[in-house]
Amino acid sequence: MHEGTAKEVVRGHEMSGVVEKVGPGVRSWGAGDRVAVEPLVSCNACQACLEGRRQLCPALSIMGVHQDGGFSRALVVPEYALLRLPDSVSDRSGALVEPVAVAVHALRRAGLFSSPQRGGRVLIAGLGSVGLMLVAVSAFLGLRSVSVVGRHAYQREAAQKIAQHYNMHLRPFQSISSAAIEEKADIAFEAIGGKSSVLNDIIAGCIKPGGKIVCLGVFEPGKVHVDPLDLLVKSITLIGSNCYDHYEEPSDFEVAMKVVQAEGSFLEEVFVTHVV
Ligand SMILES: [Zn+2]
Repeated sequence: MHEGTAKEVVRGHEMSGVVEKVGPGVRSWGAGDRVAVEPLVSCNACQACLEGRRQLCPALSIMGVHQDGGFSRALVVPEYALLRLPDSVSDRSGALVEPVAVAVHALRRAGLFSSPQRGGRVLIAGLGSVGLMLVAVSAFLGLRSVSVVGRHAYQREAAQKIAQHYNMHLRPFQSISSAAIEEKADIAFEAIGGKSSVLNDIIAGCIKPGGKIVCLGVFEPGKVHVDPLDLLVKSITLIGSNCYDHYEEPSDFEVAMKVVQAEGSFLEEVFVTHVV
């Protein structure tokens, strides 16, 4: 559950579905169309929206977080939220487009998207669904080696399964302190959030001077503080990565759809653990 999720909303921000009917003026979609849904609802008028960065809109409302989401029996969504599901992509895989897009966006923010091998040593801290998706998408894009930190054995096993599938070299660690012993990373992803001190542990012991840290973890407000002097002295770049956007072509969701089209059944094996 996202921090700040409104209590009364129907959850589910990772969605696929079938168009039942369309509102007046909608020309591109019709009943029966299979779609993935980008759950960001925004004003469509501010600078951020006009640039294709809905996630930065001051009026942003996320389906499944701030308003009803994918566990609803039916949902009214704006036309711009839809992306066509190819016939080869199952409904279940369609629901994975959203988390894949989160990873695509983070890899773009890190500068790893077009040439992942040029980024140097990569560390992914946190192997929840976001961290594991980062492992999967970076491997799909061609990253050949990665260090990961996952507290639980089943998380590290899932990362290993992904690494084997892509023939990627994986260095798994149970804690950030054990990861700090090896060669420091050029790029690190923080995918834990909450009250975790791992961001500061990365700054203190896991990142090379001049390195980049991409923050994807959703932190509790006011719980974790970073000393800017550490960033200055080590010339570390701290990068926030929020959701996904349409700032670059193709959009993060469009890239994610291609990933799912190619790898949907494998991703289902790893990421779909329960069916209700
Ligand atoms: Zn806006």
